[in-house]
Amino acid sequence: MTYSAREKRRQTHAVRIGNVAMGGGAPVVVQSMTNTDTADAAATARQAAELAGAGSELVRITVDRPEAAAAVPAIRERLDAMGVDVPLIGDFHYIGHTLLRDYPECARALDKYRINPGNVGFREKQDRNFAMMIETAARYGKAVRIGVNWGSLDQALLTRMMDENASLAEPRDTREIMHEALVASALDSAARAGELGLGADRIVISAKVSEVQDLIACYRLLAGRCDYALHLGLTEAGMGDKGVIASTAGLAILLQEGIGDTIRVSLTPGPGEARTREVRVAQEILQSLGIRAFSPGIIACPGCGRTTSTTFQELARDIEAYIRERRPEWQAKYPGFEQLQLAVMGCIVNGPGESKHADIGISLPGTGEIPAAPVYIDGEKARTLRGEDLAGQFHEIVEEYVASRWGNRS
Ligand code: SF4
Repeated sequence: MTYSAREKRRQTHAVRIGNVAMGGGAPVVVQSMTNTDTADAAATARQAAELAGAGSELVRITVDRPEAAAAVPAIRERLDAMGVDVPLIGDFHYIGHTLLRDYPECARALDKYRINPGNVGFREKQDRNFAMMIETAARYGKAVRIGVNWGSLDQALLTRMMDENASLAEPRDTREIMHEALVASALDSAARAGELGLGADRIVISAKVSEVQDLIACYRLLAGRCDYALHLGLTEAGMGDKGVIASTAGLAILLQEGIGDTIRVSLTPGPGEARTREVRVAQEILQSLGIRAFSPGIIACPGCGRTTSTTFQELARDIEAYIRERRPEWQAKYPGFEQLQLAVMGCIVNGPGESKHADIGISLPGTGEIPAAPVYIDGEKARTLRGEDLAGQFHEIVEEYVASRWGNRS
């Protein structure tokens, strides 16, 4: 039996964010966040467009001060002028209630507001400020994400729950109480938003932590206790491999259990590194799990002592670059092309076998083998490539295949 995480999706309320559907059985949405100063409308619009171009279906921008709130309508206008209709989410902390009140054009231009209940004020002000934000969302027909965070958890709630636990005959582990507090903060706030007039079809929930096991525990609790759409992400995942791997480990387990309606991979870019990496990683996670397809899949063997020339590595790298370059045009001309599966293999040990399972597979000659590269198309040996320009010949085969399989289907 083929197992598919897609079939196991947990049923949640459908939420519409601008032109994007989330929850209610819609595909898991990829989102990302800018790291520009939002007050700089040109730079923020440029980066939002880059993220959208890389495949981010929602883009979040921080709205942290009056200058940032004032710039939001201009960011929307710039994106519209570029033909980029990606919905914008405003990330609010501390003074979101006053920014949304004082900058109604900002409130209108955004498609969703992210509210952190741990950062909206204290005691009676907390209730009042939270209500102001929810009422603004209801008035303008916007969705909200109630996004609680380990680092800014409502301390009064946590203290109360810790005290209650301490008074039990057999107190539970304090970490479990922290998970419970995080989940309770999110669900209490969502219930309050409902009382204030915001329907479940406008509410998304997140409970972000920075450790994989905590993330899994919190989202399992959330998924068992509510049917709101859930935003998944490991906060402060970190830089480089660590950030990618920790995010993948946590998100993959939850997605496999059908939990999660939108994901964000919070990577810290290295100096000079593109912000778009987090979008590619999010797409790869979903594609690897078979939940969504964004781009043709390339299977490549790791190479070993049988691949002593660099031809194999060069071809594997070349075909990846070729697909990236051709993707925008294929997207426009050949709907469904992202299902394409390629195999680039280093020698005859696994080369022909793996190539036969792909739509197109090429098996390069390993050390000591005859200098010829058999190509398999739809499981059958179709051609044998020879000579210097293996890459160019392989591009032609791929191009012809994509055009004949996904072209002229209307
Ligand atoms: S397919 Fe050949 S080259 Fe690739 S890892 Fe296996 S034995 Fe090595």
